[in-house]
Amino acid sequence: MRRRIFAISVVAVVLLGSTIFLTVMSEQRKAQTAYMKDLFAMDTFFTLQAYGPGAEGALELCARRVQELENRLSVTVEGSDIRRINQGLFSDEEMADAKIDADAGIAEDTFLLIKAARELGEETEGALDITLYPVLREWGFTTGDYKVPDEEVLWELLQKVDYTKIQLDEERQSVLVPAGTELDLGAVAKGYTGDCLTELLKERGVTSAMLDLGGNIQVLGAKPDGTPWRIAVKDPFGGSKMIGVLEVVDKAVITSGSYERYFVGEDGKDYWHILDPSDGYPADSGLVSVTVVGESGVKCDGLSTALFVMGKDRAVEFWRQHPEFEMILVTEDGKVYFTQGLEDSFECGKGWLAEEIPESSGD
Ligand code: AMP
Ligand code: MG
Repeated sequence: MRRRIFAISVVAVVLLGSTIFLTVMSEQRKAQTAYMKDLFAMDTFFTLQAYGPGAEGALELCARRVQELENRLSVTVEGSDIRRINQGLFSDEEMADAKIDADAGIAEDTFLLIKAARELGEETEGALDITLYPVLREWGFTTGDYKVPDEEVLWELLQKVDYTKIQLDEERQSVLVPAGTELDLGAVAKGYTGDCLTELLKERGVTSAMLDLGGNIQVLGAKPDGTPWRIAVKDPFGGSKMIGVLEVVDKAVITSGSYERYFVGEDGKDYWHILDPSDGYPADSGLVSVTVVGESGVKCDGLSTALFVMGKDRAVEFWRQHPEFEMILVTEDGKVYFTQGLEDSFECGKGWLAEEIPESSGD
């Protein structure tokens, strides 16, 4: 009898043990299952990848959120907040006529992003200026109908370019711009979108995700196996040998480069899409790409554009005064510079000459 009880107990323990083992294995497998979502939005391809039980549903919500953001922030979507601002609905003349009522206001997203971009404009002393739209249009960067504008036309259009003239009313969450001012959030919208999606995934219990928003990368947590994500930094000269690999956890890795959008003028010169707001011409700063690594997507996005305009020396100076981000700069002559904070996480690719930028200038 005792033997029988013993045998039954052994069988029960083994059964229970294997059930627990299988459950744990199945949970682990679920946590490791990758869910993917591909989208075309904001004029580029998005690939969203998330892991774990809630990931599939969360990615569907992300796709909807991207659509919502595009409908609010796009400069081309009819009826978007930016389109309405650019049509003069929020210009001071119209406001003076009290033609706007509270319901016709802008979404909180639009308000917050304009606010963040305006602040980054101030921090970068105007290297980032979201009122450049009329100038960008004249170059054809908005339509693909490229041309080198007349100098006089550029000068005329530049009179309307001044981010400091954007007035924001915190209480009413409203915006007011001078008549003729037009905005373009192309330099910051994808970074803001990445922040929104990361937040949404977190709320849904996702702890591991990688979002590729047209080359802007934002990662949530580490890889499901607990190791850091490995992000390749592209060769801005179009070759196949990447600049290197960055190991990151909970970070945005955002690159601005002259190679991303450009045209060749009748004079045989390249003209690219990042303009220097001080003269309205493509920023000829000696840089071909700037990669910014940090916590906030919107900041990294705004900074990658602004630091490209500033050029290496001003960018290094700026970084020394704002140590909350790291960067990798590539110069026209093919040299790679990376900030000290990346010394353990950036592995430079073969064939590139890389130099570390120290925290202090040493003088
Ligand atoms: P990104 O790829 O983030 O560097 O953003 C570049 C886009 O931002 C361009 O395609 C333009 O739409 C816009 N842009 C270009 N130059 C500037 C600038 N100096 N400040 C703000 N936006 C800019
Ligand atoms: Mg940017």
